[in-house]
Amino acid sequence: MRRNVMLNPDTSVTHSIDCVLQTLFIATTNHDFCTITRKTDRGCQTQTRGSRRDNCPFVGNSKIHGPTLFGGLQVVCGYRENVSRWGEKMENPAIDPRHLDAIADADPYPYWYDDADEPDANPTLVRTESCDLCIVGGGYTGLWTAIIAKERDPSRDIILLDAQQVGSAASGRNGGFMEASLTHGIANAQQRFADEIPVLEELGLHNLNEIEAAIRRYNIDCDFERTGVIDVATTFHPSSYSDEMREDFHQLRSLGHNVEWLDREAMQAQIHSPTYVGGLWRKERAALVDPARLAWGLKRVAESLGVRIFEDTRATSLERDGVGVLVETSLGRVRAGKVALCTNAFKPLLKRLSHYIIPVYDYCMVTEPLTDDQLESIGWKNRQGLSDIPNQFHYYRLTADNRILWGGYDAVYYFRGRVNTELESRPESWALLSRHFFETFPQLDDVRFSHMWGGAIDTCTRFTVFWGRAMGGRVAYALGYTGLGTGSSRFGAEVLVDQLDGRRTKASSTKFVQDKPLPFPPEPFRFIGIQATRWSMRREDRTGKRNLWLRSLDRLGLGFDS
Ligand SMILES: Cc1cc2nc3c(=O)[nH]c(=O)nc-3n(C[C@H](O)[C@H](O)[C@H](O)COP(=O)(O)OP(=O)(O)OC[C@H]3O[C@@H](n4cnc5c(N)ncnc54)[C@H](O)[C@@H]3O)c2cc1C
Repeated sequence: MRRNVMLNPDTSVTHSIDCVLQTLFIATTNHDFCTITRKTDRGCQTQTRGSRRDNCPFVGNSKIHGPTLFGGLQVVCGYRENVSRWGEKMENPAIDPRHLDAIADADPYPYWYDDADEPDANPTLVRTESCDLCIVGGGYTGLWTAIIAKERDPSRDIILLDAQQVGSAASGRNGGFMEASLTHGIANAQQRFADEIPVLEELGLHNLNEIEAAIRRYNIDCDFERTGVIDVATTFHPSSYSDEMREDFHQLRSLGHNVEWLDREAMQAQIHSPTYVGGLWRKERAALVDPARLAWGLKRVAESLGVRIFEDTRATSLERDGVGVLVETSLGRVRAGKVALCTNAFKPLLKRLSHYIIPVYDYCMVTEPLTDDQLESIGWKNRQGLSDIPNQFHYYRLTADNRILWGGYDAVYYFRGRVNTELESRPESWALLSRHFFETFPQLDDVRFSHMWGGAIDTCTRFTVFWGRAMGGRVAYALGYTGLGTGSSRFGAEVLVDQLDGRRTKASSTKFVQDKPLPFPPEPFRFIGIQATRWSMRREDRTGKRNLWLRSLDRLGLGFDS
């Protein structure tokens, strides 16, 4: 999974800021180098070397990539708008070259994959196999489905297929924030599932406890740290956001959660940043993990329980097959009694699901390990996960070797919901993240980033997982985590197995489990609507005012988030 791509040190740092961005862009596109020499608008010559791809689609294209139809708008929405102070437009953009130098040597793939413990690849399916349960997708949802199904009935014969490798998508590349919330936070629960909050909170806590227990039971080495998460109020957003955070605090406390309100001084005592004005520390109900090691550990456990895993095996279609289902793959087929679909943001095998989920790209990066002095300058002794609170938010945390993972802010939907590895690279988002990092931690001005990457998130209009069945109950699916599935994917899998087994449980009687999100409109209205929503949310982050568009979406119960 590790991609051996290095920037050419002679050429990666170019003479102008534009050139640095373009060099990064060329070097990171599709994780390959295109042999290319070209002149930029400003006459700066940029060169990269080495080629594994003959046909680089970006040769001669001086634009930073965006959706074909609305490319200009996308770029305007991102870096080229010269957004500073997290949403505030600048008349005379002063892009500090240090922010770009800090990312110039970063490797364009997930930091988590730089790990000796990555398991060997499994074989591709090239024959016809039979089983009781075929699971399509080897992220957390698919892996937990396999493990829970086996734990309940060890005699069940299970095959798991993944189009790439287990953990190669969101599950192996996320920020590692593992939250107990099943509803994408208490505010979203309040808006959509108000009557069921106590039961959903209880189920969520049980789910997180079960994950911790499984990690211990199966000895999964994934740096699980139950440090909690602090929602951080900063000088960069309207004060009304802090008022809403205080409402969340009171609600969480009334639900019996272990939460602490941090005023400016208390917040600074935890982590030092000149931008911090307060925080809400949600203790116990959130943990941090190494996401790839968790996925690899779950793979090992599934195999040890007897699950047969095929990688580089894309399921291409489903059809009824007597009392079961026939799953066609690129080179083989599986005859299964039941099928679990766990394909997240990828093109769904059931066409109807494409109305409910859209792939949204999220980008993040990791610094080099901090020195003791650098760590001392920020405090962070309790190692909590941190997340600021605007619509366009950042999430950040320490890794086991004391790097800072820093991600979020941009949430990019590409026209027609494209998903491919090229889109995992977005230098303009990394540049913006770099600027925000140094604005938050100016005392770390000598820190450099070592890795930067992106990945697709399965966004739905209710911001949280939903379930459903097809083919007379032989097929079931769990999708739509909207960027918060590291923990809730286990719950998604548990409900999925319940549905396949026809089990009634406390969860199955909730509207949360029974209801589906509202569908997205078709293209091009989908794309236009999402861009309008992004623009409105950014405006709200600047002004504190929710415009007519957002208020209308609120009334319709529609939303867009990462
Ligand atoms: C950059 C980033 C940061 C994130 N940070 C966080 C975070 O800090 N906390 C959090 O809670 N969540 C986070 N998330 C979201 C979280 O990672 C996901 O919600 C979660 O991993 C979803 O797991 P999954 O198994 O459903 O999907 P995935 O991990 O995407 O797995 C789906 C699998 O299905 C396979 N597949 C797809 N189609 C087929 C097919 N036709 N045939 C065979 N296989 C197929 C894919 O290859 C893939 O391996 C983040 C996501 C990203 C991208």
